[in-house]
Amino acid sequence: MIKKIFSSVIVFFASFLFIGLNAQNVSRKPLQTIIIDPGHGGLDPGATGTFSKEAQVSLEVSLKLGKAIENEFPDIKVIYTRTSDILPGDKSSIEQGLFYRADLANQSNGDLFIAIHCNSAGRSPGGWYGKRISHYNTVTKKVKVKKNKWVTKTMKVPVYEDYWIENVAKGTETYVWAVSKNDSKINSVAKKAEDYYGEIDSVSTISLPDPTDPVDKARMLIYAQNFFRKSLNLADLVQQEFAKTGRVDRGVKQRNDKGIWVLQATGMPSVLVEIGFISNKGEEEYINSEKGQGEIVANIFNALKVYKEKLEAKKTDADKESEKKPF
Ligand SMILES: [Zn+2]
Repeated sequence: MIKKIFSSVIVFFASFLFIGLNAQNVSRKPLQTIIIDPGHGGLDPGATGTFSKEAQVSLEVSLKLGKAIENEFPDIKVIYTRTSDILPGDKSSIEQGLFYRADLANQSNGDLFIAIHCNSAGRSPGGWYGKRISHYNTVTKKVKVKKNKWVTKTMKVPVYEDYWIENVAKGTETYVWAVSKNDSKINSVAKKAEDYYGEIDSVSTISLPDPTDPVDKARMLIYAQNFFRKSLNLADLVQQEFAKTGRVDRGVKQRNDKGIWVLQATGMPSVLVEIGFISNKGEEEYINSEKGQGEIVANIFNALKVYKEKLEAKKTDADKESEKKPF
């Protein structure tokens, strides 16, 4: 009997050891699914240039980026939020389209979310007319100084002219979600886990993370911080690549607005790349050209390659923590 108990204890611990080793060896590849999100689409053309629209340029660059990834890394699954000039999911409002983008990313268990947009600034694309003083005319006229008293005065009167103000803002920026939005990122982590594990029945030992539970919240925070660190890392690499090509590097930024909502609604590292100013004549031509789009795709792709290598080479404690499943 004792022997029997002893052997079952051994089996018991051995199975733990086996599970432990297995868990170490069969670790998930860190970059399996990439969601590419071309900004705007359909009834939402985004910013307009002098001859092109943001929705169309973003789509062209997104499709080329996806191709480049599939060609070099056939193991990586690329999922687009849209592949034609529609709002994602063919939704009828911008808001619904945004939800669709995030839902698709979360439900696909994406490991990375890349949104592609074009920037815009100034009063109108290309430039606009302003007024300025071109010169002064000397005029002599009678001026009333007192009742019934007039004097002749010589004065300078400005003459205005219209002049062309070029829309000069240009360059590239990459956005990561604002730190103040970490709470919504935490909730999207919970959302993703729900999608990942599917329906939870009563016999399941898997419990969903509860954002109101302090322990779960702490663990989800590790996820969110891990995602933030990775997003920042990729964003930085993207900007470095743009700079190498001679583009104006406006840096890695954070912003709180509707367009960036998708960044905190996706339970994965996420970046939004502004590939150039469609409102700048030179950049509009560049982001529409074969050469320009080729360079932009190569820039983002090269950054992604370094990001991927880093992920695969070194797993940090935060990564290991993130891989512990279930919560
Ligand atoms: Zn946009």
